[in-house]
Amino acid sequence: MYNKESFYDCTIVDLFAGPTFFTPIIIYYIIFKALIQINNKFFPIQTGSCHCPYNSTLLSRNLFMIIGTMPKFRSFFLSKSQFTRGLQCHKSLWLLKNRPELRAEPDASLQARFDAGTDVGILAQQLFPDGMTLEYNSGISHNINTTQELIASGIGTIYEATFRHDSVLAMVDILHKGPGGWRLYEVKSSTETKDIFINDTAIQYYVVAGSGIKVSRVFLVHLNNQYTRVGELDLQELFTIDDVTDSTLSRQRDIPQLLAAMRQSLEGDEPDIDIGPYCTEPYDCDFIPYCWQHIPKCSIFDIANLRKNRKFALYYRNILHMKEIPPDFSLSDNMQIQVEAEVTGKEFINISNIKEFLSNIKEPLGFLDFETFMEPVPSFDYQKPYQQIPFQYSLHILASDKLSQHEFLGQPDEDPRRAFITKLLIDTRPCRTIIVYNQAFEIVRLQEIARDFPEFATDIDLLIARITDLMVPFRNRDYYVRAMCGSHSIKSVLPALVPDLSYNNLAIADGETAMLSYARLAKISSQEEIDKVRQDLLEYCRLDTLAMVKIWEKLVSLIKPREQLLLF
Ligand code: SF4
Repeated sequence: MYNKESFYDCTIVDLFAGPTFFTPIIIYYIIFKALIQINNKFFPIQTGSCHCPYNSTLLSRNLFMIIGTMPKFRSFFLSKSQFTRGLQCHKSLWLLKNRPELRAEPDASLQARFDAGTDVGILAQQLFPDGMTLEYNSGISHNINTTQELIASGIGTIYEATFRHDSVLAMVDILHKGPGGWRLYEVKSSTETKDIFINDTAIQYYVVAGSGIKVSRVFLVHLNNQYTRVGELDLQELFTIDDVTDSTLSRQRDIPQLLAAMRQSLEGDEPDIDIGPYCTEPYDCDFIPYCWQHIPKCSIFDIANLRKNRKFALYYRNILHMKEIPPDFSLSDNMQIQVEAEVTGKEFINISNIKEFLSNIKEPLGFLDFETFMEPVPSFDYQKPYQQIPFQYSLHILASDKLSQHEFLGQPDEDPRRAFITKLLIDTRPCRTIIVYNQAFEIVRLQEIARDFPEFATDIDLLIARITDLMVPFRNRDYYVRAMCGSHSIKSVLPALVPDLSYNNLAIADGETAMLSYARLAKISSQEEIDKVRQDLLEYCRLDTLAMVKIWEKLVSLIKPREQLLLF
């Protein structure tokens, strides 16, 4: 299961929320039951294709299949998340209802964000203590009835209060009785109120008010990224509550029309909607693998820094490949380099700029890379929401033709920063130049440690003064080859320049996975498994700095005869 919104996405839940339709559905069910059983015998159903708590039961599977044959019913019921999906793209909503198997599974990092959002929602409930929680897997009908009973009983706060109106279902994170009526609180794990969140509160208000509940105010609860934890969590400081009543009300008038348009679209065949900027705005659509199948690898959509509207301007002229870009289509110098490299295969190497870049690098050299984690709710003192906390580094040192490696990996149940910086300052002492890839990241992390642990500030300043960014020649297109496909990230530059060094065989092959693996360490008890994950993390970070060594070596090889290189 993804999260509670995915629970809503399961059509079977909608069915039980509509008692008006209950009787014909049962009749329909009886008629088709025999056919379904025959179908099940010959085509066993795969569990897990529908991310709903009921998806493993024969009843729900059968009903789900029935609904698949009942477009009217299927299209009629909507959840809050389906409504917001439909606002982004009718085709996305149609596919969700009709071809859910085409939906991309969330990757581990997206699932982790869903889980973090759930945790934030539960924590925010403590802002309004002593409420009653409705478990969403108790069943929608049950929760709708219980919500009404709790309201009638005079309760002051309900978490996950559930309503249905106009065949739209909505669960309110926190429903709290205030002066003049009920107050809706929508909890977000973001650090600001965004306009797109008003679509959530608008449909909630529409459903709750339409259910006959007097709603006096609507609020968005989000995290306060200025909050720094010291001691126990201060929930009043951790959360910010914004009154969004006016903006929520201003969208009410449009909702019936929007719903009608979505339902009309759902009643037809798959909408003939081409890809567009809305595929990633406001959210990345999970049907991109299906809709974008016709886009080739390294297409006009990969031109770095070309604005999205200009990419689609090309696309709408049936231009997919860079070689098809008309000469009158203006591109910056760096874009021209990328396009020309793509079309001709030519390598772009600006020797004088590379020479100048390398001239500022002095041995002994350090090649340094950090791994960090971040969490919405700070666990440690002097930590803010979503602050990047360094937990690991690898440092390769090249001195007198010899390469050595140093590393640090924290313990996930402890604040790693003090031990991290203490060892780093010692390990980097011999280095006259410290090479990183994308220095803004490392420098800001170091500055944050200096801010939070001022006793290290002077030494950190001295370390920062020695940092050089290996990304610069690639970002500036002083060295560009087709295989980089517009990207100057180390994950693109390394295979393009050093194809024999690869992340492919590593258990952890990217920073997101490293972060999640580190978080997982705190939850596993098997020492063998802990040792394995720690080893995987060390190998990954080690490869990052070895990759920098190899890339630097490649740059040096451009300006020096091979035999003069002082390499290991
Ligand atoms: S990928 Fe784009 S076109 Fe396809 S369903 Fe999603 S938003 Fe719509």
